[in-house]
Amino acid sequence: MWSRFGDSAAFSLGYSGSGSLLAYFSDFYTLVGYNYELFESKGYENLQKNAERVYREDPARWQAALVKGIRLLADWSRLTGKPLVTTECWGVVDYKDWPLLNRLGLFRLRAFNCFLPPASLLQELQAYQPELITGYTGVIAALARHIQSGGASGLTLRWVSPGGEIVTPLDRELLAGAFPTARILETYGATEFNLIAWECPVTGLLHNCDDGLIVEVLGADGKPVKTGETGSLVGTTLHSFAMQILRYPLGDLVVKGPFPCPCGQPFSTLIKVQGRQIGSMILSSGRVLHPFEVLNELLRQDTSWVRQYQLLQELPDQIVLRLVPIGEPPREQFLCLEETLKKVFGIGVDFRIRLLPEIPRDASGKFSLVRSLVKQP
Ligand SMILES: [Zn+2]
Repeated sequence: MWSRFGDSAAFSLGYSGSGSLLAYFSDFYTLVGYNYELFESKGYENLQKNAERVYREDPARWQAALVKGIRLLADWSRLTGKPLVTTECWGVVDYKDWPLLNRLGLFRLRAFNCFLPPASLLQELQAYQPELITGYTGVIAALARHIQSGGASGLTLRWVSPGGEIVTPLDRELLAGAFPTARILETYGATEFNLIAWECPVTGLLHNCDDGLIVEVLGADGKPVKTGETGSLVGTTLHSFAMQILRYPLGDLVVKGPFPCPCGQPFSTLIKVQGRQIGSMILSSGRVLHPFEVLNELLRQDTSWVRQYQLLQELPDQIVLRLVPIGEPPREQFLCLEETLKKVFGIGVDFRIRLLPEIPRDASGKFSLVRSLVKQP
């Protein structure tokens, strides 16, 4: 496909899967049975069925067509003085986000203000009736809580895709309850890399966007961790036009998953995203406490009375778990939770649970599961 990015142009050069240049400079798509069908799946099914076979029957022919295409584009690049950027992609991407289609209601796309109170957001969504929503986990979760407090949502969603923040097991449960018609599929992205990984609908692992970036999961010693181990995500962009990003430590802790995904897709995987590395709390004793030591313990308890939580380090040795309860918190569970978490922190840390009607979001609109007001070294 052609996709234009400002003043440069990108062409995806793919072996049969994408076959885009082949499509322009040969009869590859005709033989495969893909005719850019925009609103039905027949073309994609034919691609899946025929493309690899057609390619393998005469690789030399298709490679020659590809080289011819690249030469023509290089000529065009020289002639116009515009950069030629080549990318490789396993996917077929048909861009349908055309403003006209949007206006006709055929490809609808709209951004909603994440700072709207949940009640207003729900009203706007009800008027718009989207099929899928994607956005900050905290915003979608707040919407879900609002829906659950008032009964039915009036929405028939097929897909809800939380991202931008950690998706906790509590969030998943909440979203599944509030949006019963939707599949909940997580995405993981960052400004530096755009989309990094997306949830596999078969295994629940996160497929890395290996055709967009190189994902490395490195331990404290700088060496790759093994499958199932936690490490720091280090990324290298493959298609950055203005500035290449090489082996950039994003500051996120992730758990490395198997390669390839057991579902059969050819991607490396992450088992989960644990969150920001800077979320670690450094106590005055020098002990580095990863918030998940605390939050994992929290999730082992009966938390059916908990709506939302946030761990806040107010002073080096003063840590508060902010909790928004559903109704009156059950006294026994509350005390049990406080007692258990105190043990995790140990002697020397003033830990308490503080009940709140609401936990404010950060200035960006994001919700942080862990915050520290202590200056980190
Ligand atoms: Zn998979």
